Amino acid sequence: MIDASKLTEEFGCLVFNDKVMRERLPKDIYKAVHKTIEKGTHLELDVANCVAATMKEWAVENGATHFTHWFQPMTGLTAEKHDSFISPTDNGGIIMEFSGKELVKGEPDASSFPSGGLRATFEARGYTAWDPSSPAFIKDGSLYIPTAFCSYTGEALDKKTPLLRSMEALSAESVKMLHLLGYEDVNRVNTTIGSEQEYFLIDKEYYKKRKDLLFTGRTLIGAPATKGQEMEDHYFGVIKPKVSAYMHDLDEELWKLGIPAKTKHNEVAPSQHELAPVFETANVAVDHNQLTMEVMKKVADKHNFACLLHEKPFEGINGSGKHNNWSICTDTGMNLLDPGKKPGENIPFLVFLIAVIAAVDDYAPILRLSVASAGNDHRLGGNEAPPAIISIFVGDELAEVLKGVEEGSAYQGSGKVQMTMGATVLPHFTKDNTDRNRTSPFAFTGNKFEFRMPGSAVSVANANIVLNTAVAREVKKLYEKLSSFSADELQGKIMDVLRDTLLEHKRVLFNGNGYTDEWVIEAEKRGLPNLKSLPDAMPYWISDASIDLFTGHGIFTKEELCSRYEILLENYSKSVHIEALTMQEMVRKDLTEGIVAYQKDLGKEAVQKKSLLGDKSAALECKLLKDLDEASENICKALDKLYEDTKTAEGKKEALEAARFYQETVLSDMDELRKYADEAEALIPEKYLSYPTYGQMLFSLR
Ligand code: ADP
Ligand code: MG
Repeated sequence: MIDASKLTEEFGCLVFNDKVMRERLPKDIYKAVHKTIEKGTHLELDVANCVAATMKEWAVENGATHFTHWFQPMTGLTAEKHDSFISPTDNGGIIMEFSGKELVKGEPDASSFPSGGLRATFEARGYTAWDPSSPAFIKDGSLYIPTAFCSYTGEALDKKTPLLRSMEALSAESVKMLHLLGYEDVNRVNTTIGSEQEYFLIDKEYYKKRKDLLFTGRTLIGAPATKGQEMEDHYFGVIKPKVSAYMHDLDEELWKLGIPAKTKHNEVAPSQHELAPVFETANVAVDHNQLTMEVMKKVADKHNFACLLHEKPFEGINGSGKHNNWSICTDTGMNLLDPGKKPGENIPFLVFLIAVIAAVDDYAPILRLSVASAGNDHRLGGNEAPPAIISIFVGDELAEVLKGVEEGSAYQGSGKVQMTMGATVLPHFTKDNTDRNRTSPFAFTGNKFEFRMPGSAVSVANANIVLNTAVAREVKKLYEKLSSFSADELQGKIMDVLRDTLLEHKRVLFNGNGYTDEWVIEAEKRGLPNLKSLPDAMPYWISDASIDLFTGHGIFTKEELCSRYEILLENYSKSVHIEALTMQEMVRKDLTEGIVAYQKDLGKEAVQKKSLLGDKSAALECKLLKDLDEASENICKALDKLYEDTKTAEGKKEALEAARFYQETVLSDMDELRKYADEAEALIPEKYLSYPTYGQMLFSLR
């Protein structure tokens, strides 16, 4: 265990971070690298050579024998290919080498990564390019170099490239706006992200016995346990010793990698937990979240757990999300979403707040899409996660501020309200200026927005690409309006422009309970989209509005958008397909085996009893036999239907049509089959089942 008094030294000990660079690089080289990181300038080869040599030296000292360009292809996972530092010498020995060229550029064969038709397989060449703004680190004896991944012709094949492009777009538009507002010292605006990661832990032995968890990440059958989350006794509950040991170990591993893991607690569902880091610059935060997910699984394995990151591993209890806390901050240290003491008079705050409101309203379908996956569809719209309708919660105080903007009367701000709890022994403190509204998909939380729709399993890159770009677009629109005024006019006109923009978009503001049916009706009246599934939302990705947005800011070309459209749809269909096959196999083999074995014993018992005690005896055995028989008959019918429809789905060639069929037909077949399978399972004693039940998986951790 880490010695707590040494933590400040241990933190980031496996990272080639700023401290290491300052200590080891010659001054001019260090400065050149910094300029690249801060200003995005090009890095010369001699600088790269020097950095590479220093990196290698440091990595070897820390036990690394290999290096790898680490990238994030469109599978949503990470990819790596390792090369050793060794190079043979004339006398049959080796030396350890690493050149600037090897640091800056890699050439993985791109043909086996999804490209959505961006290149034919014979054009297999792909390039990885070093991202100096995300620090390299050591893991499992290799030096990991964060990189962007593109095709031979320069199209992005990953999630990092468009994320970096979107950060730059938002920065450029924001800087222009801030200069207009008189903040001329600002040179760059940074997107900051803190992503809270939810997860489940279950016993590893149980995990290995369930094909559904192994192949799809979620349970496809399983009768509910007699206890769920209704007692509300798990959220923030005492952390069990085994889980606590896991969390300690996890924190340590993450800290060594320079990941600022900060908060840990039990979540709402049994066996569900959360980890939140301190926020960081967007691309580093995204890299760190990818790494966090990987380390979570690895450490779990060491502790004989399986860490489930799927958005909906269990039916009937809460799924897992990844709240994306998002803000924008200038290089002069100004958080543009901080209302300050007088929000009604804080012009930069109001400009950026209203730009965000407009962005979320104008691009709601695309924002919805940015979090769409087969897994997350099960979560959004359930009464536990944000609904699929996108609205913004601003809280009472900001609502007053915005009312002031609408009515042209600058709201003075209530300032902080003193909180008293009625007992003098308790400290007095000030209240936050927003309450919590857990039902809102997009909530203002004091000095940032919390986007709650992202799912637990996937990279948050997409959500932030869309958010950054949409806000960049609205800032640009506001700039175009404001810059048409002369300097003298500007002061008088700003509030008018903000008011008009707010009036145009205020339909997206909603402070009430997002889980109610009334809200669904009200949202429809307001014209807000309610896109329940990925196939419903997908056409918006290649709509004119989307193409205009993304090409306009240089985030995606039309070809890149189309390729991502194909990949998302294919990925969706493949996921549901695997689920359908796995479910059939589990029902046909594992569940049926249990049903048959139990029925056999019941039958034997009934025959014996009846011969001894007469026909009226064995009532319970006979009833159970009959119930199981009825369930089996229904299972049989539902299984046939699922089998036929899965075959039909396989034949669908067009991507959207196939995804629709999977969503409308195959998934509902699976629901039907599950209903009967669960009915049967609920009747069978655990010892007859080859796989663990919900009760065992969710309530056996100590
Ligand atoms: P809650 O569970 O109430 O949402 P947490 O403390 O679990 O709160 O998470 C809040 C997250 O918001 C943390 O990851 C934190 O680092 C992040 N955060 C705080 N300030 C900012 C900011 N300016 N930009 C981005 N993220 C932020
Ligand atoms: Mg949160």
